[in-house]
Amino acid sequence: MTDIAIIGGGAAGAALFGALLNREHGGSLHWITGPATPGRGVAYATQEEHHLLNVRAVGMGLYVDQDEDFVQHATRQRADVRATDFLPRRLFGDFVEAQWRKRMTAAEKRARPFALHTVEALRVEPQIHGYDVLLSDQRTLHVDTVILAVGALSPRPLRTVSAQALASGAFELNPWNLPRRSRAPRRLIVIGTGLTAVDTLLSASRQWPDTELVAVSRHGLLPFVHPELPAQPYPQQDQLNAQLLASAATAGMLRTIRHAIRHAPQVDWRSVIDGMRPINTTVWQGLSLARRRQFLRHARWIWEAARHRTAPASAEFIQQLRDEGRLQVHAARVLGVDGQGPLDVTVRARASQALSRLQADLVVQATGLDTAVAFTEHALLAQLIEDGLAVADPLQLGVAAQPDGRLINARGDAQPGLYAIGSLLRGNLWECTAMPEIRAAAHTLAAHLAAERNGAPASSPATV
Ligand SMILES: Cc1cc2nc3c(=O)[nH]c(=O)nc-3n(C[C@H](O)[C@H](O)[C@H](O)COP(=O)(O)OP(=O)(O)OC[C@H]3O[C@@H](n4cnc5c(N)ncnc54)[C@H](O)[C@@H]3O)c2cc1C
Repeated sequence: MTDIAIIGGGAAGAALFGALLNREHGGSLHWITGPATPGRGVAYATQEEHHLLNVRAVGMGLYVDQDEDFVQHATRQRADVRATDFLPRRLFGDFVEAQWRKRMTAAEKRARPFALHTVEALRVEPQIHGYDVLLSDQRTLHVDTVILAVGALSPRPLRTVSAQALASGAFELNPWNLPRRSRAPRRLIVIGTGLTAVDTLLSASRQWPDTELVAVSRHGLLPFVHPELPAQPYPQQDQLNAQLLASAATAGMLRTIRHAIRHAPQVDWRSVIDGMRPINTTVWQGLSLARRRQFLRHARWIWEAARHRTAPASAEFIQQLRDEGRLQVHAARVLGVDGQGPLDVTVRARASQALSRLQADLVVQATGLDTAVAFTEHALLAQLIEDGLAVADPLQLGVAAQPDGRLINARGDAQPGLYAIGSLLRGNLWECTAMPEIRAAAHTLAAHLAAERNGAPASSPATV
């Protein structure tokens, strides 16, 4: 009999909870979700209709062996849904909630033991057998296996932001807090130009129609845009992927990709990038630490913009804001954010290296996923690191882990019964933060844990 605790109430936690509920075994299943509505997490908690999925409806789902598909579900709420649409994230949040509730009801009928805890897990302490999980309501659960599904970390302020600016109330570290601010700023500066920055600009432009908007990032590059309809696959994708798998250097890989795109002008370049998705993890795992560092330093910005593209409707709206002169995008490095409000933002332009100072009533940091666990204030992760049960990935891409998601401890061994899923595994898997990868990982991990506890030889979770 094996008891399991999943820690984290986002979509990854929901996917694993549902996958494990569907498997029979003797032990109990605990889902520790934190106080927010279970299943929505950061991405799908938004209620704003213009916060769109960046994956077509047909590509979204919670389980590999799903009970219902997302398009069917969305069609019941809106008549005009097409499988190729980029729907509001809110609708996917509704779907996730409906799916895990359905599996929970079915499990109740089968008297399968499980419990939902809408509190935080503060500590995980190893015992002679298994772990004690200490909860924020003072209870302790004893389990054999713990899975961390805590998503990305809460953002830390950039080093260039002064303590005075942080305390001023004019600096916002959490872009999703924008709707709680009632006073319209005259000028708002968003630091970052990725997908979260796009959502922030869309929200701000609607919330405050007269506010001047500025976005600043080192390259000033907004995400590329998905085609309105799915493009044809690249016919030579298999050969390209084989070449990439055989290559050891990132520069050579980038040349190979560019060459493929240039020599197939009839093919949409985005198909080539999308066609690499099944091999991205293998390619990443084949890179040495030095090559990974090189990739992060020189190519990450362009890869992220090309790989994590924005929905056409969001891009159109951003373009409209730029055409109307309401939004300016700067390619510049932020050297300092200071003042008591309004804030002074000092930047160095990428092209001219000229220094300039911009003033803003509100500055929002939207710099993307934070996975630097070595510096986190997340109580549980900080404790796991301090107690040597987990160690940070050397490039601060989450925690060090085996390919099956089992954490590597400070002695360099796989820590028995302690796993992670989702963004914390970026260092190990790279491609692991979106739903298609998360649901596959949840399926594999559930099968592995069920096999392990039923005494059967466990198949490797790396092989979905
Ligand atoms: C704005 C945004 C949009 C996105 N859009 C898409 C998309 O369109 N398609 C797609 O496939 N992917 C998208 N993604 C990727 C997204 O990361 C995944 O789809 C998925 O939502 C990740 O879920 P998660 O559970 O890993 O993390 P999270 O959503 O971060 O959830 C983790 C949860 O764990 C809780 N938690 C943390 N610590 C504890 C603790 N100690 N105890 C209890 N609970 C804890 C947190 O409060 C949080 O609720 C998007 C991501 C973001 C940020």
